[in-house]
Amino acid sequence: MFNADGDSLVTEMPVSFNTDLVDLHCHSTASDGILSPEALVSRAKSRGVTLLALTDHDTVAGVADARRTGAAVGLEVLPGIEFSACWGQRQVHILGLGLDPGSAELQRAVALRASLRETRARAIAERLEKRGFAGALNGAKTLAGDGVLGRPHFARWLVERGYVADAAQAFKRYLGAGKIGDVAVEWPQMAETIASIHVAGGVAVLAHPLKYSLTRSRLKALLLDFAQAGGRGVELVCGLQNPMQTRDLARLLESLELDSPLLCSVGSDFHQPGQPWRELGRARLPEGVEPVWALLGN
Ligand code: AMP
Ligand code: ZN
Ligand code: FE
Ligand code: FE
Repeated sequence: MFNADGDSLVTEMPVSFNTDLVDLHCHSTASDGILSPEALVSRAKSRGVTLLALTDHDTVAGVADARRTGAAVGLEVLPGIEFSACWGQRQVHILGLGLDPGSAELQRAVALRASLRETRARAIAERLEKRGFAGALNGAKTLAGDGVLGRPHFARWLVERGYVADAAQAFKRYLGAGKIGDVAVEWPQMAETIASIHVAGGVAVLAHPLKYSLTRSRLKALLLDFAQAGGRGVELVCGLQNPMQTRDLARLLESLELDSPLLCSVGSDFHQPGQPWRELGRARLPEGVEPVWALLGN
């Protein structure tokens, strides 16, 4: 949104949402979350969330049910997605907020990831099988049900079979970075992903920038590339986060000298009950930052 001089009008846009408690990042059974979209929205409502985006990994399949429940219980639910993407060789997550779930481009981007995930799942299962864990593919698929299949389903299967004590151990031993089940995937590049989100009418937000284990200079390069490619927001706070790290990231964002500043988003990254560090509505933006929802109002 720009005026004739190219100045941003973002901060002047009327926001029609109640933004008292915003959570723009969470997962349902449509991907690797434990709650159905309906149960998730009800939980968010009961925790006082006033604006929610459902952002399942590489799918919008839960959005319609989530929005229907939102309408019934009186909670604004925005369509969203968390896209897997590559920045160079590195994997990053890009949130698409407020997009049209019926967009053909979105469906294409989703189908591409589904096929990459299927290939990866077979590779993960093969490797686990070599370690003596037979039946991982069917086991993980059964746990995923209709949802997008991800590494957490393999983790749950390993737990269910008693091979590991919990999901964290499954990642630490078998599925996490550098382990046998860490199969590299050539996800679509970040710039292409941002373009897909735009075509689908959404706003692109870089998810959890502090979780990529980047040096400060690499993180700055990522943020600049993200903005250059048309990304509009950064998840300044994701789940429970050290306030000092949040302040550092906010300062880094301010220092970027972009024509159009990156706006700030916040989300819990909720996956299931019983994880208080990423409970719905738990994460909050600090005072004095420009929130991304200025772009989401209608
Ligand atoms: P995928 O998109 O299939 O590669 O799975 C990524 C998801 O796995 C993340 O969104 C987390 O929910 C989960 N995950 C990643 N690393 C860990 C870990 N160390 N422990 C538990 N869950 C993890
Ligand atoms: Zn997840
Ligand atoms: Fe993520
Ligand atoms: Fe997430």
